[in-house]
Amino acid sequence: MINRIIDQLKKSRKVLVVSHANPDGDAIGALLATGLALKSMQKDVCMYNESPIPAVYRFLPSVRMIGQEVDAIESYDTILVLDCGSIERVGDLAPKIKNGKTIINIDHHVTNTQFGDLQLIDPDACATAEIIYRLIKRLGLKFDCPIATAIYTGILTDTGSFRFSSTNQKAFAICADMIENGANPYEVAQHVYGHYSLGRIKLLNLALDSLEISPNGKISIMALTQDMMDMTRTQEEDIDGIINYARRIEDVKVAALIHEVAGGGRARRQYHVSLRSDGDINVALIAAQFGGGGHANAAGFSVEATLSDLKNKIVELSETTPGLCEMN
Ligand code: AMP
Ligand code: MN
Ligand code: MN
Repeated sequence: MINRIIDQLKKSRKVLVVSHANPDGDAIGALLATGLALKSMQKDVCMYNESPIPAVYRFLPSVRMIGQEVDAIESYDTILVLDCGSIERVGDLAPKIKNGKTIINIDHHVTNTQFGDLQLIDPDACATAEIIYRLIKRLGLKFDCPIATAIYTGILTDTGSFRFSSTNQKAFAICADMIENGANPYEVAQHVYGHYSLGRIKLLNLALDSLEISPNGKISIMALTQDMMDMTRTQEEDIDGIINYARRIEDVKVAALIHEVAGGGRARRQYHVSLRSDGDINVALIAAQFGGGGHANAAGFSVEATLSDLKNKIVELSETTPGLCEMN
C-alpha cells in the first residue's frame, strides 16, 4: 500500500493535508511534517486544521502555514487525512472531503474505520508522526529542522513523554534520528510542558475539586463545565493533560474527564468525554459503545446528554468492560 501512496503523491500536483479538530501534538506534528515534505517535492500544498493551533504548539517552525481555509475540494488531486480514526474527526469539512478525488487515510487508531481510497494504518505505531517518518524516508526526502521538530513533537506528546505502553525502541530510534536532524528536545519540552497560564492552573483546581470515584473504586470521573472555562478564561486546549491526575489515583483503572462543549443546548448539553486506562483495560471498547473510539489506553467520544445521566452511564458501561467487571 505504501508504494501506491507514494505513486499517488508523486503524480499529484495539488495536495490538501488535514488532521483532526482540537489537534494534539501528533495531529499538528504529522500535519506539518507531511505538508513540509510535500512542499520540498514542489507540490502545491494546503495544510488545514479546523481549530486554532494550541498556544503550546505555536513555537513549531512553519506552524503558521497551517490554515483554516481550503480551495474548492475538486481542485486537489489528493487529500491526506492524518491521525483521524474516522473522517468525521476532521470536523465540519468532513462531508466536503468525502467528495475529494483521492483520499489517503494515514493513522494509528485501533478503531480506524478504513475510510478513503488508500490507507496506511498501523495501530502499533506510537504516533501518526511515526508513520509519516517512514513515509518521508521511503520518499527519499531530507528531514530538515522544521520537519524533524514536528515529528519529534508528535512522538513526544503521543507517547505521554515516553511513558505510555506505546513507547518502544522504534520511538526512541526515530527521535534520536530527529535530534540528529535538528530537533531540540529541551526546547520542545520547554514549549510543550514548561509553562502553564494561571487560568489553566485554576481550571486544574476546579477539575480536581470535581473528582468522583465510582462505588467500586475503579473509575474516577472529573467534569468541567463551560462556566468553569469562562470563569478561568480557558479554552479546550487547556484541558489537555488534566485527565492524567484522575488516572494516577491508586486502584483507579479507568479515568474519565467530561467537558462541556461550547454552544450546547439547555437541559441536554453537548459533552466530550476523554477516557484513559493503564495496562489491560481497553477504553476504546467503552468509547465505541458511545459512538467514539481511540486507542486501548486513550479514547474518547462526544454525546448530547445531561451530566448526571452521562456519569451513571460511564460507570455502568465501564463496570461491564473486560478487566473491570471481574475485579469487584
Ligand atoms: P481525547 O478524548 O481527546 O483525549 O482523545 C483520546 C483519544 O481518543 C485520541 O486518540 C482521539 O483520537 C480518540 N478520540 C477522541 N474522541 C473521539 C471520537 N469522538 N471518536 C473517535 N475517536 C476519538
Ligand atoms: Mn491525535
Ligand atoms: Mn495520534
